[in-house]
Amino acid sequence: MRVQQDFPIPGVLFRDLTPVLADAAALRAVTRALAHAHGPVDVVAGLESRGFLLAAAAAAVLGTGVLAVRKPGKLPGDVLSESFELEYGTGTFQVHPSDVPDGARVLVLDDVLATGGSATAACRLVERAGGTVAGVAVAIELVDLGGRAALGPVPLVALRRW
Ligand code: IMP
Repeated sequence: MRVQQDFPIPGVLFRDLTPVLADAAALRAVTRALAHAHGPVDVVAGLESRGFLLAAAAAAVLGTGVLAVRKPGKLPGDVLSESFELEYGTGTFQVHPSDVPDGARVLVLDDVLATGGSATAACRLVERAGGTVAGVAVAIELVDLGGRAALGPVPLVALRRW
């Protein structure tokens, strides 16, 4: 993993997972650990955009489909929306509710958990779409930013706590 000062804006210390994604053995290990973080699931949700890479890889390991949790304006047709605050800025996520089978157990994956705003919004979208959140799993948890507390009772597995 690479750590980059002042990216994407001054004052932010950015943890860059792309070297891990580029390494076959590391990608395999991270993917397997995330995929099995919360037991059997029916769907893996990935948060745009780095979470897509991990979610698709984990879904291939588990034999499930992927729920794309996308930024606004990317998904055609009927969508559910949730807005949230980010470490640097605000955001909105959307999903197709039709991509979540009723009662499906959904694993929510992302690269980094910071304040927990993104993951909390994704969990709300899963529940509103009729699914059940099995848990959130991330490669890196930035512990000082309070994301674990923000998730409340939703179980969190972080492969590395920073
Ligand atoms: P949160 O909503 O504050 O928990 O921020 C998490 C989201 O911001 C995730 O989708 C991450 O991809 C992104 N993020 C925040 N900090 C970092 C970082 O240091 N490296 C990579 N992504 C980050």
